[in-house]
Amino acid sequence: MTALASTRAELQPYLDGFANSKRGVVMTMGALHEGHLELFKRARHDCDLLVATIFVNPLQFGPNEDFDRYPRTLDDDLKLCAEAGVDVVFAPAVAEVYPGGPPIVQVSPGAMGEVLEGEFRPGFFTGVLTIVNKLLHLTRPDVTFFGQKDAQQLALVRRMVLDLNMPVEVVAVPTVRDADGLAKSSRNRYLSPEERTVALGLSRALFAGESQAAAGNGAEAVRGAAGAVLGEAAAGGGLTVDYLALVDPEDFSEVPPAFTGDAVLAVAARVGSTRLIDNLPLTLTPGVG
Ligand code: AMP
Repeated sequence: MTALASTRAELQPYLDGFANSKRGVVMTMGALHEGHLELFKRARHDCDLLVATIFVNPLQFGPNEDFDRYPRTLDDDLKLCAEAGVDVVFAPAVAEVYPGGPPIVQVSPGAMGEVLEGEFRPGFFTGVLTIVNKLLHLTRPDVTFFGQKDAQQLALVRRMVLDLNMPVEVVAVPTVRDADGLAKSSRNRYLSPEERTVALGLSRALFAGESQAAAGNGAEAVRGAAGAVLGEAAAGGGLTVDYLALVDPEDFSEVPPAFTGDAVLAVAARVGSTRLIDNLPLTLTPGVG
């Protein structure tokens, strides 16, 4: 049985009941899919108490973004949580999370929050880090699980935990994809069948870049191959690229041509009115292959 807690007071007894064991938290905005389920699976395996949070955070949405139309499917989500062995779903109202109204004090992501997603979504990572911080205080886990799908978010959460000495372990979970490569996302449900086909351009571009890295080619070859595939998809119509970048996973700065080591190939594009992001972790070993 999965319990539902809407307030801090309702959640408290579950946290108290597991005070001396390992508590895990998976934060989500609901509209759950197999990507979220993978996080639950890993958390269920690693932890004694598994709390899932479901909260569509107004602070991380820009004025022209999809806060109002973001899918809210609590009944279905609760069923999936029960199947996944989630102990408690914490699904608070906005007023519970922001008791003082819009917060005056917020968490600044610094320079890493200004590039890529941060450039196209001003204020996004301030909203994300602020809510992650708040939910960590509200749920007090020993370990929290984040998807590689949102690689920049994951890197910033890790950095926040390090820089602010937060007592929690952050575990990364690999991206779950449909069989044809499309990364699972709550926003995929906005896509028409035609748009979904167009959206495959993102993962195709990443896989083209990955092949170059696997063949021992360097950053320029990776960028070139991915860019060519993405350009082709854009030329076909219905897809507008926001960015394609090959970055250092530590700070999300672009890697230089001679870079060796771990990198992230990241892409964002709009398909119709739906904005999608995807990425692949790569290891660059130019000259070795
Ligand atoms: P969201 O509900 O989109 O805010 O996502 C909640 C958590 O699930 C975040 O840590 C995401 O990175 C993770 N997540 C979303 N989609 C996927 C996916 N396809 N594979 C793995 N994790 C995912």
